[in-house]
Amino acid sequence: MIPPGETIGILGGGQLGRMIAMAAAQLGYRIHIYAPEADSIAAEVSAEFTCAAWDDAEAMARFAAGCAVVTYEFENVPVGPLAALGDVPLLAHARALETAQDRLNEKRFVTDLGGTPAPFHPVDSAADLAEAIAAIGAPGILKTRRDGYDGKGQWRIMTPEDAEGLDLPAQPLIYEGFVTFFAEFSVILCRGADGEIRYFDSAHNVHEGGILALSTVPAPARLLEQVPAARELAAKVADALDYVGVLTLEFFATENGPVFNEMAPRVHNSGHWTIEGAVTSQFENHVRAICGLPLGDTGLAADAVEMRNLIGDEADDWATILGDPANHLHLYGKGAARPGRKMGHVTRLTFQRD
Ligand code: AMP
Repeated sequence: MIPPGETIGILGGGQLGRMIAMAAAQLGYRIHIYAPEADSIAAEVSAEFTCAAWDDAEAMARFAAGCAVVTYEFENVPVGPLAALGDVPLLAHARALETAQDRLNEKRFVTDLGGTPAPFHPVDSAADLAEAIAAIGAPGILKTRRDGYDGKGQWRIMTPEDAEGLDLPAQPLIYEGFVTFFAEFSVILCRGADGEIRYFDSAHNVHEGGILALSTVPAPARLLEQVPAARELAAKVADALDYVGVLTLEFFATENGPVFNEMAPRVHNSGHWTIEGAVTSQFENHVRAICGLPLGDTGLAADAVEMRNLIGDEADDWATILGDPANHLHLYGKGAARPGRKMGHVTRLTFQRD
């Protein structure tokens, strides 16, 4: 067990790190952020900050020397340089990162555990793409295997002709069949070092332009029917990776049951509602898990919860949002409100007495 007062290292300096740091501070831990960008919004709320490149082995080793445990808030941290952490435990284990960083590996891994992703085909050339479309059909989505997020690195292919003029990026790709779904949801679980698993309620997630816009709990009954099978798969993934911490799997709810979309070996945007809406937030439970503390109750703290992302200049409405006393406003302290950038979120709890 890592007692309060010790230092937790976090790889990555964005809003997820910021919210982990705030939960860790509440439990009496110190946070040391490691990130390559100088303007880290996680470092602003943390005790220490190392600003260095991922492959700076000396900086990584110095960072690790002061940490009792290291975790990450960004799943594209390159795995090779993490050898410099030496004996300091990295949780979740690097294998979770390796699995989730590559959409092809991730889908094969989940398929081997009995999960159902959209039909997929690796694409490394125009000929591969033609072959993939012939095998799977169109419409479909061509995605970069690595480094994609929030709908970036994706091309929708409505007809085989769409693929013909495409200027393929010089990196490994994957073609996925387009899934007809009636809703999207996520399973967020927390697994302790002893293997105990606790699940948060599955939110109904609505995306706009490939970016999460809204998460609501409880999800509609039709969607909830799919949660047990999705949880079963998520638990298999967590057990297979000997996972410690919060793990997220995203699903499409279809007429034929849950179709796996992707996994994130970390706390997740679709779990931000848990800060006020669950007895213990995803951030606190992640800290508890990686420090070997007992996990907190993941149950609901209200009858219903809604979390809305503030994207781009939507965050400029902060005064109006605060004008409604029921709103919990979270701003991440990012400077420029670029279109598509997640600037904050608002959570509302509903009680039956309301
Ligand atoms: P991703 O970054 O892969 O999670 O994709 C972002 C969003 O694009 C998803 O949440 C879906 O709304 C949509 N999407 C991605 N892949 C597919 C697919 N194979 N079929 C239908 N919609 C998809």
